[in-house]
Amino acid sequence: MTRSSTLRPAWVEVDLDAISANARRLVRLVAPARLCAVVKADAYGHGASQVAGAALRGGASLVAVALVEEGVALRESGCTSEVLLLSEPAPPAMGEAVAHELTPTLYQPEGVVAACSAASAAGRVVDVQLKVDTGMHRVGADPDALLALARAVDDAPELVGAGLWTHLAVAEEPDDPFTAEQLRRFRCARQALAAAGIPTGVLHAANSAGAIAHRAARLDLVRCGIALYGHLPAPALGAVLERELGGGETLEPALAWKAQIHLVRRLEAGERVSYGRTYELERPSFVGVVPVGYHDGVPRALGRAGGEVLVKGRRRRIAGTVTMDQVVVDLGDDDSVRPGDEAVLIGRQGAEQITVQEWADRLGTICHEVLCGIGPRVPRRYIGAGPGGPAGDGPPAGSAWTSFGPPVAQRR
Ligand SMILES: *Cc1c(COP(=O)(O)O)cnc(C)c1O
Repeated sequence: MTRSSTLRPAWVEVDLDAISANARRLVRLVAPARLCAVVKADAYGHGASQVAGAALRGGASLVAVALVEEGVALRESGCTSEVLLLSEPAPPAMGEAVAHELTPTLYQPEGVVAACSAASAAGRVVDVQLKVDTGMHRVGADPDALLALARAVDDAPELVGAGLWTHLAVAEEPDDPFTAEQLRRFRCARQALAAAGIPTGVLHAANSAGAIAHRAARLDLVRCGIALYGHLPAPALGAVLERELGGGETLEPALAWKAQIHLVRRLEAGERVSYGRTYELERPSFVGVVPVGYHDGVPRALGRAGGEVLVKGRRRRIAGTVTMDQVVVDLGDDDSVRPGDEAVLIGRQGAEQITVQEWADRLGTICHEVLCGIGPRVPRRYIGAGPGGPAGDGPPAGSAWTSFGPPVAQRR
């Protein structure tokens, strides 16, 4: 364990066995399509290298990140599997992408040019994937521009067009016909390339929601983030997922967020707690201080939104405004809580559970944003069969860790 995680009585626990088990469930769900584990944004705060290892052990075939630097960090942690970059690297970053054997996604002519130069400078043939925009309208080549782009890749001896993909805009709405429309546009794009004699490589379109709710979107592989971490892309997909998995199976949340109560004090009726004095105690009450705040990812709005924390197996209201480093919780007349007792912000304690979805509902957002909000100042502790045995935080030393995933050379 690093020094910071032993000094600070607040931590995130990541269960790597849950990640592996979720990967296995998703692999089974989408077979014969393969699973790409999306570990961008430090695996939504879970720790990219640890999660990549656990997902690959659970049967994922490759991993994906957003940025070149995220891919480089994975390589430096020993990841040897295919790493797909979900955005086109800026031309000056293409050399790093190639040097670390990351697979760039390309959708602009300047991206193709930069990939060609980086590949020839490295004296290597480089796999690339093309992304086409079928209606999300974020990034991706316009369908009309795809053929020219694909031809440029196909004509470049130093590039191999190893995939064609798109991204769905409303996959979490099972009944929205726009997903079928996007898939239709994707098929057209692919047929245009086939008609021109240009191979497309692997075809993919689905994020977690697409993989769960749209069988037709599974294609050759699915790119799952949120489901791998054990959360639904949207609450409405719970029933669909259970039906698709069968056997009463669901996904397991891999992350819990805990802290030790820093201090407990008793205040008189009528006293008001925290900034703005918005929270009034109606009777003499004990309050406890939990040593995490909005810098750590407890949004300031969570207090006003009725947010709760578990202490001694019971839900306790957040008393007033969340501050940068601390949260005060209302313990009412419970005089049994002591400094050092465990507080659970997210996760289970006794029979109670606070889910990431509960936070998302209170805050008017989605699980993705709650997880990504948990700041780097909170130490991560790993439980479960991490590589080289039960892990502390950070990659454990030992040969099992220094290389994980199928060797790059054997990927294709
Ligand atoms: C983030 C991302 C995903 C994963 O989305 P989830 O909803 O977390 O499964 C898949 N594809 C692309 C292009 C992404 O940016």
